[in-house]
Parts: sequence; structure tokens; C-alpha cells
Amino acid sequence: MQVPAQFEYERASSVEHAIALLARHGPEARVLAGGHSLIPMMKLRLAEPETLIDINDLSELAEIEVQGDELCIGAMARHADLLASEVAGSHYPILHDAEHVIADPVVRNRGTVGGSVCQADPSEDLSAAFAAIQATAVIQGADGTRTVSMREFFTGPYDTVVGPAELLVQLRVPIHPDGGSAYVKVERRVGDWPVAAVGAALRLGRRNKITDAGIGMTAVGAAHFVAAEAEAYLRGKPATEEHFAKAGEIAAAHCNPSADQRGPVDYKRHLAGELTRRALRGAAERAMARAV
Ligand SMILES: Cc1cc2nc3c(=O)[nH]c(=O)nc-3n(C[C@H](O)[C@H](O)[C@H](O)COP(=O)(O)OP(=O)(O)OC[C@H]3O[C@@H](n4cnc5c(N)ncnc54)[C@H](O)[C@@H]3O)c2cc1C
Repeated sequence: MQVPAQFEYERASSVEHAIALLARHGPEARVLAGGHSLIPMMKLRLAEPETLIDINDLSELAEIEVQGDELCIGAMARHADLLASEVAGSHYPILHDAEHVIADPVVRNRGTVGGSVCQADPSEDLSAAFAAIQATAVIQGADGTRTVSMREFFTGPYDTVVGPAELLVQLRVPIHPDGGSAYVKVERRVGDWPVAAVGAALRLGRRNKITDAGIGMTAVGAAHFVAAEAEAYLRGKPATEEHFAKAGEIAAAHCNPSADQRGPVDYKRHLAGELTRRALRGAAERAMARAV
């Protein structure tokens, strides 16, 4: 039986309390959210925190709501909460697309949005979705809050800009009435991690000209989960199948997949291109439907 190494346990009663506990216990303390990544890592002794700071009582971090012209998602919103949120799905259907294919109901009932992006697994689904919709992370420390683009949030595999005495508290996404978004994933079986997955968000202007494009990719070694070259290619062009296919080619050429038990490099690169095309097509269809 795999058991974690010994650790101390603290239960935070507020965001400020959690931050004070993190500061007091130092860099060997870790935040415990849903525990679906951290606890298995502790059992395997891949993580051996000296103290766990449990933030499950912080219901103020579980809200999903519109504030002004932004969709705001608390870090402690569970996957199931995001999947059930009508306000999130209506503004950003990409989030529902992604949540439908993340793990299984057991994981979704407990795992959190914040825990997922802070884990920064290179195959994580929400990281690609939030990169596509150009979300901003709100991070709180002893000196107050700071905001970081999700495109600068990830500093490498399993590594983010969140400091040892900081907490990710919220993700904010600007709401665009002229936008559409979609997420597509290939997995070996239902509930599995992606072989490859792509999220796309498009804003369309007159005559369906693309005024802004966001493309997030996961499991294919895209820097910061972003297909930046394909996005740049699309801006200013009409939303056509031809341009989506070309964007797919560009995205496939610029990603950097690794061979593993989920498939060889060529297969993943092929998926990156094809899924980019499909995600863009889905995003465009939704943007056009909103414009009618
Ligand atoms: C069987 C299984 C299948 C899965 N399938 C998928 C899948 O298909 N796609 C996918 O994307 N994911 C998948 N996952 C991952 C799952 O979505 C994440 O493990 C989980 O949601 C992480 O969130 P958590 O709340 O459990 O985080 P935790 O395990 O509690 O924490 C993860 C890390 O983030 C840190 N952390 C958590 N919250 C914060 C915060 N607010 N501020 C700062 N640091 C924080 C923790 O200290 C820890 O280092 C799967 C997991 C399992 C167990």
C-alpha cells in the first residue's frame, strides 16, 4: 500500500489565514484543494510537503459569476460547478466542452479549477482552455493581489508563477458578445487524459473577419499551452475552412509533442493540426450563431 510521508495539517478559515499559514510554514508547505493531484503524488512520494494547508472551507473562492464585463471563476470552483454553471457555459461554451471530457464524475466533484491550473500538468485540459480565452489569474499574497495573464502563468511543466506564500484566488475572462469558443479532445478512453486537445476562441467582425483569435493546445508541447503562430496567421483573415486548415498546419508545425504510451510524435502532431481546425470551426459556428 502506498502511503504519504508524515505531514502537518492546517485548515484555513479565510484567504488571509491561508496566506498567513503558508508564510508561517514556509516553502515546504503546500495548499490542499481537491487533492486529486496532490494526494496521489504524496502517496508516490513525488511530493513530500511538511505541511498541508487545506483551503476547502474557503467558500468565497468557489463563486462563478459575471462582474462588469468579465466572467469570474473562483479557484475553489469544482470541475462539476463549472460544468453546471449556466453563466460560464453561455459566455464560454469552451469551458463546458472541456469539463465534459475531464476525468470522471468522482474527480470532477472534488477537483478544482485552481488546483488544475496550479498543478500545471503538461496534459491538463483547463490550462489550454484558459489560454485560448485569454484568461487572467488573480494571485493573492501578504501584500495584496496581482494579476498575471494565463499565457504567462506557466513557467514550465508542473511549475507556475504562484509563489510559495501566495494563493491563486480567481480566474477572470473578458466577455465578448462577438465571440465564440470550442474545445475538442482525443482520448484513448472516456475520462482519460488527452492524447491531444485544442481549444479555440474567435471574435468575428464584419463579413466574418477574424478580429481576434485564441488557440490553446495541451499534451503536444506547445509553449505556454498556446499556438501563437497560428493565432497571428488568423488575425484579419475571413473565418473560412481554408484558413482554419492552414492555421492547423501552422499549429502542428510549431508544437513539440513527445512520444509516450498515448502515441508517437507523428500521430500527436497530426492530431494537433486536425483538432485545431475542428476547434476553430466550432468556435466560428458559435460566434456566427450569436451574431444572428
Ligand atoms: C483519475 C484522474 C483522471 C484525471 N483526468 C484528467 C483529465 O482528463 N484532464 C485534466 O485536465 N485533468 C485530469 N485530472 C486531473 C484533475 O483534474 C486534477 O487532478 C485536479 O482537478 C486538480 O485539482 P485539485 O483541486 O484536486 O488540486 P490539488 O491536488 O489539491 O492541488 C494540485 C496542486 O495545486 C496546488 N494548488 C491547489 N489550489 C491552489 C490554489 N488555489 N493556489 C495555489 N496553489 C494551489 C496544490 O498545492 C498542488 O500543488 C485527472 C485526475 C485524476 C485523479
